[in-house]
Amino acid sequence: MNEYSESERTACGGEHIEAKPLMRIDIMTLFPDTMSAVLGESILGRAAAKDIIEINCVQIRDFTENKQGQVDDYTYGGGWGCVMMAQPLKSCLDFIRECAGERKTRVIYMSPLGKVFNQDKARQLKDDYNHLVLVCGHYEGIDERFIDECVDEEISIGDFVLTGGEIPAMAVADCVCRMLPGVLSSEECFTGESHWEGLLEYPQYTRPEVWEGRIVPEILRSGHHANITKWRRKQSIIRTMQRRPDMYEKLVFTEKADKKLLAEIEKETAQKCNDVVEGRE
Ligand code: SAH
Repeated sequence: MNEYSESERTACGGEHIEAKPLMRIDIMTLFPDTMSAVLGESILGRAAAKDIIEINCVQIRDFTENKQGQVDDYTYGGGWGCVMMAQPLKSCLDFIRECAGERKTRVIYMSPLGKVFNQDKARQLKDDYNHLVLVCGHYEGIDERFIDECVDEEISIGDFVLTGGEIPAMAVADCVCRMLPGVLSSEECFTGESHWEGLLEYPQYTRPEVWEGRIVPEILRSGHHANITKWRRKQSIIRTMQRRPDMYEKLVFTEKADKKLLAEIEKETAQKCNDVVEGRE
């Protein structure tokens, strides 16, 4: 986890850092300290220590050409709030490109106007690039000319507006990095999870066996792996069906085992409906 100081900035100029980490992420922000603290912890912190990833939080304000360190100004045409100026953003990006050297770079502006982020997008970024530059806006946003000139794509984290791009950038960085080899203990940690193949995850339990009178499902305590796998798959299907009909609609089940599970679910649902109608439930 790096956060460039003035001296490092100067030292870095012109030098090409080797393409050692699998993924390098530079986050352009007005709040590098806060971001470094969060991204330097836990799983991502350990991945950075192992040199699998490198995340740099770069202070945009360091690149202003005015004496006051001003990064924003009034909006042309009038209206509330200020807009971040193109010059410090462009100088900051130039510096980052110079430091990163030859890498497959994608410049992304975190923006509520962007396409909404999801697991597929994260996978695509992980597979197609080894350097992401995440630009965090603040105030009313950033000068459109910087977007036209320098940004490859805009990404939103949902249909709502935040005060800055920092939380969205952390979400993108976290999601992309945890899928890189060596970051989690095994690939299964994320390939079996919600959203990997269009399904939501099954319920999970840990010790104790009984908590507040609630017992862990018997099948998970049985030690019968094939049955556990089947039960989990079935729970995933049921949860997706009930909680995310929009996701369920897109699923195509071709496996015989899945078709069998679907028939079971259908039968159980019909039975439940019958029970309700006949007052048994
Ligand atoms: N005036 C803008 C909102 C600016 S919010 C508008 O109406 O669209 C300030 C900054 O927060 C933005 O520049 C962007 O970087 C970030 N931001 C806010 N909401 C976001 C979201 N849903 N996804 C990604 N970034 C967001």
